[in-house]
Amino acid sequence: MDEVGPGGPSGRALPPVRPDLSALDGYHSAQVDVEVRLNTNESPLPPPSGWIEALTAAVADIEFNRYPDRQALGLRGALADSHGVGVDEIFCANGSNEVLQCLLLAYGGPSRTAALFEPTYTLHRHISRITGTPVATGPRRADFALDLDVVAEVVAGSDPALTFLCSPNNPTGRADSLDEITAVAGMVPGILVVDEAYGQFAPSSALALRGSDPAGMRHVVVVRTFSKTWSMAGTRLGYLVADPEVVRACELVALPYHLDAAKQEAGRLALDFVAEMNARVAAIAEERGRIAAAFAELPVETWPSDANFLLFRPTGKAATAVWSDLVSASVLVRDCSAWPGLTGCLRVTVGLPEENDRFLAALTESLR
Ligand code: PMP
Repeated sequence: MDEVGPGGPSGRALPPVRPDLSALDGYHSAQVDVEVRLNTNESPLPPPSGWIEALTAAVADIEFNRYPDRQALGLRGALADSHGVGVDEIFCANGSNEVLQCLLLAYGGPSRTAALFEPTYTLHRHISRITGTPVATGPRRADFALDLDVVAEVVAGSDPALTFLCSPNNPTGRADSLDEITAVAGMVPGILVVDEAYGQFAPSSALALRGSDPAGMRHVVVVRTFSKTWSMAGTRLGYLVADPEVVRACELVALPYHLDAAKQEAGRLALDFVAEMNARVAAIAEERGRIAAAFAELPVETWPSDANFLLFRPTGKAATAVWSDLVSASVLVRDCSAWPGLTGCLRVTVGLPEENDRFLAALTESLR
């Protein structure tokens, strides 16, 4: 047998990746070493110290030689109580991205279509493609609100098994109104996924639709995450609230024991700190207002936000040049200028007051 060096030039050829994957760019948020990181919509605040203490104590009691609770009943039960739904209406995964992947594995695939309305969260398209699900898209309006005529056209033309909304929408910031979401729910033939990663900042939630008309809204799935308002991006935990049939479908495609024991404790214990979380949301919303007010004095176009970030478009200077000026000042924001419908746009995550001051000073300098 030939000697095959690991990856060396004499090694045997590996098969190419699936042809439909080879064109994917991957999902990149530039990772630059800076002092002020305002590019990934995390919470700038650490989780409450009481949560860290409770988690440390709970971790000491975990039987690490055993597999975790495969059903994650403690965590799901606590989430179900917090939303006033049954435990069979909750499915958890490793971040809401994995929740979205499970929905696409269960309901998508090569013979199905996923519909979405851009600009929106890029991972809806990306995970659709990873799961081999064709994507049908339509544009949002110039002010980034949903265009219900476009939604009707896309739905009629593609008969989507899944339709994605993101509310509040990343990266544009606005939440879709309950009337708009209700209208879309009335049009789609399949599952309507409402990604509420920033839901705690929004004035309303699609959870209310499920509550008000459980039979008529059976197909509405609400996806949430612990990564943003809960200050727990490092934990990788997300979940959905949906009809039990949707939960069972996701369980079919999730790997056994995909939620480790420490993560289950982390999520369960976090729900004891709702007041702290609400205080964080209020503090960040106040800072968001301060940044928006500062934008009004600068040569930038900007849009109202119901989330922990703001989209803006410098009017007198190229977005990429402004992005580089900010990096030179050790401030990192997200460059969205090459995304569909977002020419010239940057997105800034609301940080701590002193981080926002650094951002605004650097932006003012760049646009001077
Ligand atoms: N949905 C939206 C709209 C997001 O912005 C993000 C994070 N960028 C996610 C889902 C994924 O979050 P996570 O996987 O950390 O829960």
